[in-house]
Amino acid sequence: MLDLLIRGGTVGDGTGAPPRMADVAIEGGDIVEVAPLPAGEAARVVDATGLIVAPGFIDTHAHSDGALLMDPQHENGIRQGITTEVITQDGMGFAPLSPDNYRLYRRYIAGILGLPPEDLDTSTIEAMRRAYAGAACNVAMLVPHAAVRLETVGFRDIPLRGGPLDAAKRLLHEGLEQGARGLSTGLSYYPQSYSDTEELVELCRVVAEYGGVYVTHVRNHNTDRAAHGGGIAEALDVGRRSGVKVHVSHYKTAPATAGQPDALMAEVDAAKRDGVDVTLECYPYPVGSTVPGFFMAGEFHEGGPDALLERLTDAAVRPRIIESLRALFPGALATAAWTHVGGEGGAALEGVAFADLARQRDTSIEEMVCDVMVESRLMCGFRYLPPDSVATWRQMDEDVIQLLERDDYMIGSDAIPHGAMRHPRAHGCFPRIVGRLRRRHDVPLERIVQRVTQAPARRFGLDGRGEVRAGMRADLVIFDAERITDLATFDDPRVPPAGVPYVVVNGRMAVDGERCTGVLAGESVP
Ligand SMILES: [Zn+2]
Repeated sequence: MLDLLIRGGTVGDGTGAPPRMADVAIEGGDIVEVAPLPAGEAARVVDATGLIVAPGFIDTHAHSDGALLMDPQHENGIRQGITTEVITQDGMGFAPLSPDNYRLYRRYIAGILGLPPEDLDTSTIEAMRRAYAGAACNVAMLVPHAAVRLETVGFRDIPLRGGPLDAAKRLLHEGLEQGARGLSTGLSYYPQSYSDTEELVELCRVVAEYGGVYVTHVRNHNTDRAAHGGGIAEALDVGRRSGVKVHVSHYKTAPATAGQPDALMAEVDAAKRDGVDVTLECYPYPVGSTVPGFFMAGEFHEGGPDALLERLTDAAVRPRIIESLRALFPGALATAAWTHVGGEGGAALEGVAFADLARQRDTSIEEMVCDVMVESRLMCGFRYLPPDSVATWRQMDEDVIQLLERDDYMIGSDAIPHGAMRHPRAHGCFPRIVGRLRRRHDVPLERIVQRVTQAPARRFGLDGRGEVRAGMRADLVIFDAERITDLATFDDPRVPPAGVPYVVVNGRMAVDGERCTGVLAGESVP
């Protein structure tokens, strides 16, 4: 008897082929048949009449590393129809780390990754893969650049060379052997930004040996030590010199460049003509979210969280932090609001705009930000305020749609699922693009579905996933093409989406009638 039979639906199979009527039969976690089937016996029959049956969405960029461990139900992701998340992004992740380095890094990066249990076995990628198995969704990992650096040179501002570089390469080999799909880095975060291009090329040669992917949030710190001044040019240079597949994180227009996606792609396309293998991702929102340390120069991060906190409270150093922040990233904090703030009284600050809080506290925005970092012991994060101009916002949505016409673009939510006033992308990203924006811009459904299923599965070597056909794992999202939409907004960011009644993970119902079932069938993949 079949475990699950999905009857009467329209299958958008992930390949980009036009949707077609078919039933989907599932047994033992696998899809066993996709065809018009006679009414057979099944432990569960789902009537999908009038609904689209698609492969589960694959989120190429999520910061759920801690959230999945603290709450494996992971409602914010699974309710969107996301069945696989690629975590350990921007070079951040918990393995491979020694117990001491884990405890140090866990506190340092709590503002993005949350605070998972302190006694976790983070010694290897393998150990972390075990920890993630049994969440509501599947998880794929990369080797995070921060971990590799911490394990070899600690929180120090030196490039990896000689013995430490060899040790870093060994860790990378090990992680890739254990199932990591590549290396990730975030060259605006520390200790990753202590690297130079040479180091990245050396590490990526290892990744290339395995056919892995170099996933990069491009550099805007220490650009003097980067080829071509950092940014996308450095990422492409690393690809050219190491032969690695490059995947560029959250690469899209900003409010100031709205309407100019072509300009954004010129360098990428030139590199592709030279033979560099590049893919990219974006999320369908006009502004981002991060932690304030993102704007603080490397010298202040050296040594890790306690050293940073000490500098923030040191009357002799604090003015230099403020000065460097203003010089390096002028105006960067002017239009932001707190998403989550730990510590006593922190919750009351969530959602409060930086400018308003600075005024309330009768201080400058920069001073206020430093104070909150200290008060929350670095457990804080913010997002930008959306543009005042609706026209700008709409243009940026259109830019995302234009980028997704390219077959090298995917969707990474960049979800940071912490705090009452988190960025809404953590709850609405996929229904927003697959529903709201697809309909507004009249994009063929099969194209959008391919970009969020088969394309990422192929790029990240997630064999057996990303398509609806016999022999594949049964990761499915069943949605109403006319109704699917995000409902999470900047002022009410945790509202679940509409129009996604069923989600199947490894053959089991994770969402049933728009409700989480409590079934935690996720695997560490591939
Ligand atoms: Zn990110």
